[in-house]
Amino acid sequence: MPCQALDTATLARRDEIVADMRIIVPGEGVVDTENAMRPFETDALTAYRQLPLVVVLPQTTAQVARILKYCSDRNIRVVPRGSGTSLSGGALPLGDAVLLVMSRFNRILDIDYANRTVTAQPGVTNLGITNAVQHEGFYYAPDPSSQIACSIGGNVAENSGGVHCLKYGLTANNVIGVEMVLMNGEVVRLGGKHLDAEGYDLLGIMTGSEGLLGVVTEVTVRILKKPETARAVLLGFPSSEQAGQCVADIIGAGIIPGGMEMMDRPAIKAAEDFVQVGYPLDVEALLIVELDGPGAEVDHLIAEVEAIAGRNGSTTCRISTSEEERMAFWAGRKAAFPCGRPHLPRLSVHGRHDPAQGTAEGAGGHARAFGKIPAAGRQRLPCW
Ligand SMILES: Cc1cc2nc3c(=O)[nH]c(=O)nc-3n(C[C@H](O)[C@H](O)[C@H](O)COP(=O)(O)OP(=O)(O)OC[C@H]3O[C@@H](n4cnc5c(N)ncnc54)[C@H](O)[C@@H]3O)c2cc1C
Repeated sequence: MPCQALDTATLARRDEIVADMRIIVPGEGVVDTENAMRPFETDALTAYRQLPLVVVLPQTTAQVARILKYCSDRNIRVVPRGSGTSLSGGALPLGDAVLLVMSRFNRILDIDYANRTVTAQPGVTNLGITNAVQHEGFYYAPDPSSQIACSIGGNVAENSGGVHCLKYGLTANNVIGVEMVLMNGEVVRLGGKHLDAEGYDLLGIMTGSEGLLGVVTEVTVRILKKPETARAVLLGFPSSEQAGQCVADIIGAGIIPGGMEMMDRPAIKAAEDFVQVGYPLDVEALLIVELDGPGAEVDHLIAEVEAIAGRNGSTTCRISTSEEERMAFWAGRKAAFPCGRPHLPRLSVHGRHDPAQGTAEGAGGHARAFGKIPAAGRQRLPCW
């Protein structure tokens, strides 16, 4: 892949650097043979591959601090890595850089139901947080589709979101504290268990900084009580424009669904082939709208959404009747990438999810743009 010239001085010192890394992280925490480093050569943007200088898997904050100070003092580049599910090449190694893999930081450190917080090491998976608290009726809201694999540290670095971020916010709205190591090895804490730390919003700067400002070694997030009721509605439309207008009208009516996603005809077909949950195949666009809250409120909102969809020409409406069915409705959307696989390499799958478009015009315009994604050859690209 095209990339900046490698630092020959660093390459020349590779043996010495590997030996020093072994002193800082004894045991099996240093990987330096070509074969053993192969699993780390790419992230989920698999078109790009590059072996790192060396892979280091620290286990303590003190080790991370020593590695970063060592590299900073010697002008050696460092690429932090969580689970390697980034779709943007953020965790792609550099040939002259230490790949700092955080997967051994995999423990939940504190669960505080009274203050509704969980403190975890950064290698804990996103879903691991919900799994740790769901028996008490709590969950962690941001839910990227990669949540069984992606790490909470990676979520902070990418400010990740998911289908429930429309109502509950992105990682930035749910992370309240981090411990991180700056590139010179200094350990700092931003925020804590409390909401809204005083002073400059340094946590806001850190969240979404893609590992460029420091390495996260601990994360505190807020957890939420599971809503009393959550039901999902499948709404089919004859055109993406009508579905897009329905999105705008739902937001315009002051309704903020727990989740709202759109798929066009190729995406519906790809998803149905993969998960077989009964998505309608005779529509051009499908909205999945989830309403949550007290039962009576959910019933009322579903009726409103159904009426808005009707005014926009919806041709099908199916309401989940059980938790299993609600999960099944989301299964295709959540599996969008594997769903698109059979269409690759001829097709690329276009994810256009952007919960920040939470205004009626923003959401509608965004969704209406679906129909304008160009075709690849004679096939239309799946869009969601
Ligand atoms: C099938 C699939 C579905 C996806 N769905 C979504 C989705 O719905 N929403 C969404 O937002 N994303 C989604 N993603 C993208 C990806 O999962 C997220 O960006 C996720 O947050 C990356 O986490 P990770 O642990 O894999 O990080 P990595 O891929 O390992 O790293 C990502 C970036 O974070 C940095 N980083 C990682 N750990 C740390 C740390 N401890 N300290 C500092 N920097 C660090 C890396 O340097 C890199 O820049 C999806 C990916 C896949 C493969």
